Amino acid sequence: MSNSEYDLIIIGGGPAGLTAGLYASRSRLKALMIEKLLPGGQIRVSDALENYPGFPETITGAELAQRMTEQAGKFGLEIETNEVLDVDFSQKIKKISLPDKTISAPAVIIATGASPRKLNVPGEEIFLGKGVSFCATCDGPFFHNSVVAAVGGGDTAVQESIFLTKFAKKVYVIHRRDELRATKILQERAFANDKIEFIWDSVVTGIKGGLTNVDAITLKNVKTSDTKNLNVDGCFIWVGTRPNIEFLKNALELDKNGFIITDSHMRTSVAGVFAAGDIRNTPLRQVATAVGDAAIAAFSAEHYITNL
Ligand code: NAP
Repeated sequence: MSNSEYDLIIIGGGPAGLTAGLYASRSRLKALMIEKLLPGGQIRVSDALENYPGFPETITGAELAQRMTEQAGKFGLEIETNEVLDVDFSQKIKKISLPDKTISAPAVIIATGASPRKLNVPGEEIFLGKGVSFCATCDGPFFHNSVVAAVGGGDTAVQESIFLTKFAKKVYVIHRRDELRATKILQERAFANDKIEFIWDSVVTGIKGGLTNVDAITLKNVKTSDTKNLNVDGCFIWVGTRPNIEFLKNALELDKNGFIITDSHMRTSVAGVFAAGDIRNTPLRQVATAVGDAAIAAFSAEHYITNL
C-alpha cells in the first residue's frame, strides 16, 4: 500500500484521538496514536460528565479516558507518549517529526484539541499555581473554606464554579456580560446555589497578592468603567479555549481563531490529512461531538488509504 511504517498516524489522545484509534484498529489499519501526556486530554480534569450518553450515574473524565484507552488497545491501537514538533504534508507520504525520530504515513488525523485561554492580565503568570488556576479538580481542594473568583460565563466557568462550592465558602463568578453563555441546566443550578454570587458586566484587569498567594483581583465594570478591588484567595480562569496547533506551522487552512477547517468528511485542506474534535472549527465542543467527528475521520482515512 505504501512505503511508510504506518497506514495512519493520529496526533492527540483525547476522546477524538482514542475514538479514531478504535475505529482505525477495527478496520485493521496499522495505526499509531501519539499523545504527549496521559491519554484523555481535557476531560481528565472533569470531575463529572453528565451529558455523555450511557452513564446516567455520571462518570469522571479520568475514568472515561481510561475506558476509551483500554477499548482502543483491545483492538490493537499502538499508543506512544511523545510530542510532535513538526509536520511535513507536502508529499503523499506525510512525515511527522518527533524529538527522537521522524515517522511517516499516507494518512494523518489531527486530534490535538484545545487548551484554556488566558486572560493576559498582570499577575496571571506570577500567581499561576499560587492562587491562579485553570483546573478546579486539581486545585479546588486547596481552597477549603476560602473565597474564590471564577472568571467566565460559559459551560466550563459555571460547571466548575458549582464544583468549587464543595470546598470554598464563597465563589464570585465574574462575567463580562449580564447574561451567561452556559447551558440552561447549569445556569439554573448556579443561580440556586447560595455560595455563588455573580458579578455582571465586569472584567478582571489584574491579580494581586503576596509572595505565595493571591489576595485580591481588580475588576472593571465595562458599562460604567468603574474599577474596584475584590478580596479573594484564588482566581480560576475559564474564558474559553485556544487550539493546540503550534506544531502545524502553516501546513493547513485554519479559521480566523486558528481552528482547523474541515468538510463534513473531516477532510482538511490537504488530501490525506483529517481533523476531529475540539481542534476543528465546529459549533459545539463536547465529548459526544469529538467521538462522532473521530469515527467519520477514521472512516474517511480508511477510504483515502484504500483508494491510493
Ligand atoms: P466558551 O463557551 O467559549 O465560553 C467562554 C466564556 O468566557 C464566555 O462566557 C466568554 O464571554 C468569556 N470570555 C471570553 N474571553 C474573555 C475575556 N477575555 N475576559 C472575560 N471573559 C471572557 O468556553 P468554555 O466554557 O470553556 O467551553 C468550551 C466548549 O466546551 C464549549 O463548546 C462548551 O459547551 C464545552 N463544555 C461543555 C461542558 C458541558 O457540557 N458540561 C462543560 C465544559 C465545556 P461571552 O459569553 O461574552 O463571549
